Amino acid sequence: AKQQGRNGYRFFEHAMNADVQLQMQLQQDLRQAIDNNELVLHYQPKFKAPNGPMIGLEALIRWQSPEHGFMTPDRFLPQAESSGLIVPIGNWVINEACRQMKVWSDQGHNDCSVAVNLSAVQLQHISLVEVVDTALEVHELTPTQLVLEITESTAMHDAETSLKVLNNLSALGVSISIDDFGTGYSSLLYLKQLPANELKIDRGFITELAQGNDDEAIVQAIIALGKTLGMRIVAEGVETSEQQSLLTQLGCDTLQGYLLGKPVPAEVLFTSVKAELGE
Ligand code: C2E
Ligand code: CA
Ligand code: CA
Ligand code: CA
Repeated sequence: AKQQGRNGYRFFEHAMNADVQLQMQLQQDLRQAIDNNELVLHYQPKFKAPNGPMIGLEALIRWQSPEHGFMTPDRFLPQAESSGLIVPIGNWVINEACRQMKVWSDQGHNDCSVAVNLSAVQLQHISLVEVVDTALEVHELTPTQLVLEITESTAMHDAETSLKVLNNLSALGVSISIDDFGTGYSSLLYLKQLPANELKIDRGFITELAQGNDDEAIVQAIIALGKTLGMRIVAEGVETSEQQSLLTQLGCDTLQGYLLGKPVPAEVLFTSVKAELGE
C-alpha cells in the first residue's frame, strides 16, 4: 500500500510539473506570437433587432500557434493578463481592428462600428488613450466607428485610474460599452460613474430566456434601466428565434449571438451567408 501511495504521489507531482511547464511554455510562445503573426481577430456581427441590418462587429482574438494549435481566448488570456503581455497584445488588437475597419469602411460598410474588448490591465495605463487616438488617426477612422467593451470587473481593478482613462477615451468620441452587464459587483454604481453608451446584457440572462422564468423580468428591468440612461441595449448569446422575438418585444435594440452570426475571420464576413459559417 505504501508503495502504491508513493507511486500515486509521484504521478501527481509529475502531472503537476507537466502542467506548470506547459503554462510556462505557453507564456514563452505567447511572447513571440505578435511578431510571428500568429494572432488573428475573428469578427461577430451585431444586428439591429429583430431582423435589421448589421450595425456593428465585435473583434474576438484567437491564437493560431504552431506549437499549441488554434486557441480561443480562454486558453491564453489569463496568462496574457498575469504576465502583462495583454498590454502589447491589446495594442495590437486595437490597431488591427482599426486597420480592418478602415478596409471595410472604404468598401462601403461605413455605417458600421468595430468593437474591441479591453482588459483591466489595459485600463491601468494612461498611455492607452494615446494608443487609441493614434490608431484612429493612422487608419483615418472617425471615433464613432470604434467601440470599447469593458466589463465591470475590468473597471473595478483600480477604479480611480480606470475611470480617468475611460473618461479620456470617451472624450476622444469613441463609444464605451459595458459588457457582461449584471454579472459584476456594484453594477448600478458603475453604471452611474462610467461614461457608457452601450450596455450588453450578459449571456447568462439570455440562455434560458423565453422558458417562463425570472430571467424575463430581469432582462426587462435591465432594458428599462439602460434606456432611461440613454444607452443602446445589446443582448449577447442569442441562440434561438424565441429569444430573438422576446428580446425584441421587450425593447432590446441590438442582437448578437450564434443564431444571427458566429465569429468568423475578416475575409469571409461580407461574403458569407449569415450564420452559415462559424468555427
Ligand atoms: P465576450 O466579450 O463576452 O465575448 C462573447 C463570447 O461568447 C465570445 O467567446 C463569443 O465567441 C461567444 N459567443 C458569441 N455568441 C454566442 C452564442 O450565441 N452562444 C455562445 N455559447 N457563445 C457565444 P470568445 O471569442 O471565446 O471570447 C471569450 C472572451 O474573451 C470574451 O467574452 C472577452 O471577454 C475575451 N476576449 C476576446 N477577445 C479579446 C481581446 O481582444 N481582448 C481582451 N482583453 N479580451 C478578449
Ligand atoms: Ca465583449
Ligand atoms: Ca459579453
Ligand atoms: Ca463574457
